[in-house]
Amino acid sequence: MPGMSLPDHDIAILGGGPAGSALALLLARTAPRPDRIALFRAPLRGAGHAADPRSLAMNHGSQVLLASLGAWPRVAAEIRTVHVSQRGRLGRTLIRHDDYGVPRLGSVAGYSALHQALAEAVAKSGVQVIEDGQARLARHDAQGATIEQAGRAWSCAVAVQADGTPGDAAPRDYDQHAVLTLARASLPRAGWAWERFTREGPLALLPHPAGPDVHSVVWCCRPERARQLQAMDEAEFSRALNAAFGTRLGRLSAQRPDGVFPLALRLRPALAEGRTAAIGNAAQTLHPVAGQGLNLGLRDAARLALSLAGWLRQADTDPAPLLAQYAQARQPDRRATAGVTDFLPRVFATGLPAVEHACGLALLGLDLAAPLRAPLARHLLQGLRA
Ligand SMILES: Cc1cc2nc3c(=O)[nH]c(=O)nc-3n(C[C@H](O)[C@H](O)[C@H](O)COP(=O)(O)OP(=O)(O)OC[C@H]3O[C@@H](n4cnc5c(N)ncnc54)[C@H](O)[C@@H]3O)c2cc1C
Repeated sequence: MPGMSLPDHDIAILGGGPAGSALALLLARTAPRPDRIALFRAPLRGAGHAADPRSLAMNHGSQVLLASLGAWPRVAAEIRTVHVSQRGRLGRTLIRHDDYGVPRLGSVAGYSALHQALAEAVAKSGVQVIEDGQARLARHDAQGATIEQAGRAWSCAVAVQADGTPGDAAPRDYDQHAVLTLARASLPRAGWAWERFTREGPLALLPHPAGPDVHSVVWCCRPERARQLQAMDEAEFSRALNAAFGTRLGRLSAQRPDGVFPLALRLRPALAEGRTAAIGNAAQTLHPVAGQGLNLGLRDAARLALSLAGWLRQADTDPAPLLAQYAQARQPDRRATAGVTDFLPRVFATGLPAVEHACGLALLGLDLAAPLRAPLARHLLQGLRA
């Protein structure tokens, strides 16, 4: 608009985790001026790696998206079969890739490897990376927003929160912590992921890129138990893990736990407000059961990029209605995914024999009834398209 000065950036993304970095790449792909997109991120540590013990199971949809952005990690382990069971009960269900006509159900990569692949792609994208320290959304109004970092202020037309924290959304605390480590199996099964529901919480073993016999362990349990597990040496921890998981992979030899995450469901009430929008964990944090958080966050990024692609060619117009549209379009997927990941860990943790028995029967029923299993598997594979 004549007489009005341009903001420093059309879009400022606050947080360069997987969701923020993917959004930057998606926007840069169609933006007439990628240099008018800014990615504010904390400086990368060490040789460009963010040290994070998480292994991330990503579904087929996420893999296709990341590969199209040139950001699929160099090493990843495939999941071709998921085995779901309940400790002390008979029921179990198998979800197999060939039942759904896909080459794999998903793949597992280290958080750091994914971070590295995304950072390399961002470096080639033309997006302006600003990494002088912690950034914050200082203010926003109907005209734009201001980001402050290292004593400097930057103006932008749109600010996207991708910093991994859903504001002050009221948490639903699961009273569970996730204890993470790696374990080697004496009878490995390549391509199998295991989700075992126990009264304490779900225990998952995922294939890991470090080798066909290496599994990533995500053990959700009561905080007190997590503290005990953390204090154990390798032998003690391995014994506890074998007792909880059973013998399906022979003997498991685990490393000591290398990360503990408290778990809570947090849903930011509004995904968009005026000139701001939130994606990924800044929009919602979920229980890691069924590994859905990042998949959902990447779908947030894809939908927001779609909403803003046309606007970037006429960035002097008001983007607020497009952001509101984004917020509305994301509700069904967000509700359904949060619903599944909220229901599973709680229902198996009730400790009520009747409920446990019903869950066991449900798993058995799911295994017998492909038509029932299919909608769950499809949702976990692709998420709701919105
Ligand atoms: C134990 C566990 C296991 C999980 N397993 C899976 C799985 O198997 N599959 C799956 O899909 N999801 C999984 N998740 C969820 C997944 O980790 C998150 O959904 C994903 O990391 C979200 O990415 P994000 O970019 O939104 O946020 P984050 O990964 O939290 O990244 C946010 C980034 O913003 C940066 N940042 C924060 N504040 C600022 C600031 N002020 N200024 C600048 N930068 C800032 C941070 O340094 C970080 O780099 C798991 C989560 C947990 C806890």
